[in-house]
Amino acid sequence: MTLTRDDWHTRAKAIAPETHAFYAGRARMAASGETFLSINPATGGVIAELPACGAEDVDRAVAAAKSAFEAGVWANRSPAERKAILLAWADLIERDGEHLALLESIDTGKPIRDTIAIDVGSSLKSMRWFAEAIDKVYDEIAPVQASALAMLRRRPLGVIGAIVPWNFPLNMAIIKIMPALAAGNSVILKPSELTSLSVLHIAKLAHEAGLPGGVFSVLTGIGPETGRALALHMDVACLSFTGSTAVGKLLLGYAAQSNLKRVNLECGGKSANIVFADVGDPTKAALAAANGIFQNMGQICNAGSRLLVEAGIYDEFLERVVAQANGRNSGDPLDPETRYGTMISAAHADRVRGFIRSGQKDGARLVAGGEGAAGTAVVPPTILAEVSNTMEVAREEIFGPVLSVIRFETEDEAIRIANDSPYGLASALWTANVPRALRLEPRLQTGVVWVNTLRVGDITVPFGGMKQSGLGRDKSIHCFDEVTAVKSVWVDLAE
Ligand code: NAD
Repeated sequence: MTLTRDDWHTRAKAIAPETHAFYAGRARMAASGETFLSINPATGGVIAELPACGAEDVDRAVAAAKSAFEAGVWANRSPAERKAILLAWADLIERDGEHLALLESIDTGKPIRDTIAIDVGSSLKSMRWFAEAIDKVYDEIAPVQASALAMLRRRPLGVIGAIVPWNFPLNMAIIKIMPALAAGNSVILKPSELTSLSVLHIAKLAHEAGLPGGVFSVLTGIGPETGRALALHMDVACLSFTGSTAVGKLLLGYAAQSNLKRVNLECGGKSANIVFADVGDPTKAALAAANGIFQNMGQICNAGSRLLVEAGIYDEFLERVVAQANGRNSGDPLDPETRYGTMISAAHADRVRGFIRSGQKDGARLVAGGEGAAGTAVVPPTILAEVSNTMEVAREEIFGPVLSVIRFETEDEAIRIANDSPYGLASALWTANVPRALRLEPRLQTGVVWVNTLRVGDITVPFGGMKQSGLGRDKSIHCFDEVTAVKSVWVDLAE
């Protein structure tokens, strides 16, 4: 049955989200009794009152996670047994897919069509991929002398704290927790305080699927309290983080102050999308440039937020991208026709408006969009032209639908501008001359490079940044390296 806008609104009115954190095997309030509110950014209404977990909850959750790990109730199950439970969990998430998509939409302001296809759809794909992968990874034998056997055994680390942002609450959580759980770790997830609802629901389903108590927990709460307590905990072996570079730096500090826990960071970006005059298909490139910054209302770490266009085609190409931006109006997130929703909060929208003003003050020209209605969570797709790479709008991660368009004259200049950023998450090259793109690719200091495409990704391909965009890699078989330790086991074979 295809649900209409009215159907979704009727469901939204009746929805009853989980309102407890989930740790040590069951739903719980915060030990302190403190709470915070989850707000629907599209209406400003309160959706739920949630526990603000503190250090005491973190202690209890970590103790339960550690004792589950040490008892081997999960880590010592065979990979095939863990896989079966993780797949059963994915099936339950699929069963509740519409409920989860609705929770995600009212919690974030994203269009329901996206929360169905992307937030729930690709989360399921990722879950099943990691579950399926774990009984296909092998340990190694080192090529040492014949009188010895040296085995490289991959072992889970213990308790992993996963701290995630609000832009893709379920996706980001799944990408962190699945490899960690598949490898046999216990995981404590700290969602963003703005978006806890979808992951609280999946915590309940984890229990139903048969994950033993303590193995997977969700602690709701405020970053500098719940997140900090988790990051400073002496019994947390690893932090797996996605969020801002500023908080990523704090986590490295917390690791240094506590137990030197391993820290994997997926942080911010200011990705350069470089369009050369010999771009093969300008229509495709302009559509990609617009999608690359306006999808998810620009709240995307690898958004192509700096568009670098060669001088000879600058005006014509800009016109094409402006036409793309102007066709995207904000609509009701619960209308299945809506493609552009609201931002995460009115406060974040105000921050984005500040950047739009700053760009104009610095001399950039507003050629599409603008600030939108003050006090709301809506900012329209916005384009600033004649941006120089020294302006704040070219340097700071705006994390909103604001495209900064920069003119360049030569190939060297394009590469220099692209690399002139503290970030190094992703970049793109558009040229019909693929050998030229392959010659330039090594010069781009980013973890991902796209050629004649933008923001494409897959669970089979590693994702992560260079420079201040992070440490480590999410996705793909390589990310098992992040959540396991290689132990070297020597056996003397001499008789
Ligand atoms: P954020 O850094 O403010 O928060 C991320 C998480 O950290 C939240 O759960 C928050 O509660 C927690 N946190 C905040 N302060 C903390 C502290 N002192 N100690 C421990 N935890 C703390 O980021 P955000 O605003 O939620 O998300 C936007 C950011 O995420 C952007 O910078 C974006 O680029 C980044 N991001 C990166 C990727 C990637 O894969 N590289 C993907 C998505 C988002």
